[in-house]
Amino acid sequence: MILTVTMNPSVDISYPLKKLELDTVNRVSDVRKEAGGKGLNVSRVIKLAGEKGIATGLIGGNLGKYITSHLDEVGIEHSFLQIAQESRNCIAILHEELQTEILEPGPEVTEQEQEQFIRHFTGLLEQADTVTLSGSLPVGVPKDFFQTLIRIAHSRNKKVLLDCSGECLKRATTGADLPYLIKPNKQELEQLTGQSFDVDSPGTFIKLISSHQELQKIPWVVVSLGKNGAFAKIEDNYFTVRIPEINVINAVGSGDSTIAGLAVGISNHDLPENILKRAMAFGMLNAMEPQTGCINMIHFEHLFNNISVVPCH
Ligand code: ADP
Repeated sequence: MILTVTMNPSVDISYPLKKLELDTVNRVSDVRKEAGGKGLNVSRVIKLAGEKGIATGLIGGNLGKYITSHLDEVGIEHSFLQIAQESRNCIAILHEELQTEILEPGPEVTEQEQEQFIRHFTGLLEQADTVTLSGSLPVGVPKDFFQTLIRIAHSRNKKVLLDCSGECLKRATTGADLPYLIKPNKQELEQLTGQSFDVDSPGTFIKLISSHQELQKIPWVVVSLGKNGAFAKIEDNYFTVRIPEINVINAVGSGDSTIAGLAVGISNHDLPENILKRAMAFGMLNAMEPQTGCINMIHFEHLFNNISVVPCH
């Protein structure tokens, strides 16, 4: 079973407008409100793939209730810890082919609530074999919090897949207990290492990883490259994953869908080649749908069969 962690979930509101007028009233008719957050996207895709998962994290107030009722509606099992302050809204205004976002910081989490969550998480681990940690941390939570969760999961032989960026990723990839897998995109890997690589040259990726001892110690490093597929390091082996061209509708959440595919494959002990193929297929399936964190499995087999995993040296 896969446990997904979303520390700062949100009610995502989208307002489609023909034109955004400043300093006046904008009226919107087609409002969409969803439970948002990277880990919840992962949960949604796991559910759509017909696999077992449970979503956890922190929620608070009426918006927290909205989030869990939305998960109930779509049949996603969850076990969030209630905190004192209210969960956040995130607003996306879709106008003139642009997306203007207004993001609240979310609740401030006390030290006591963090300790409660660690106990809650530890209890949930009993049911899980694989854990995904995604997205940002709320106000008050230290940047090395994921490291703490990784250490606890590690001590219980659970595999942790980490998808975060910036300081959180840096801390979690330099600690004593490392995640089983990280999935940065190109920009996140370059920011982490301070080095660049060329998507057309697997050699530059191998060189980059080889010059970072910490990254070499992480069993799986999957670097997703949008329409260019992915590079991967699995133990001491390197691979290029090539994907076919698709008709992209909305690629937001493709990285989260890729994490869902990796988690499903790892949880099911699939062959590495098939794990990578499923992960790419889920990312692509999400990009083919208008909604974020949504896949239509009807097209899965066709995509899966057209993805190639090529060893590189
Ligand atoms: P992130 O959302 O984390 O930046 P990516 O953009 O690299 O992640 O997308 C993850 C995966 O989703 C890719 O490796 C690929 O399989 C698929 N994907 C994303 N964008 C596209 C695209 N434009 N065309 C085809 N596949 C895509």
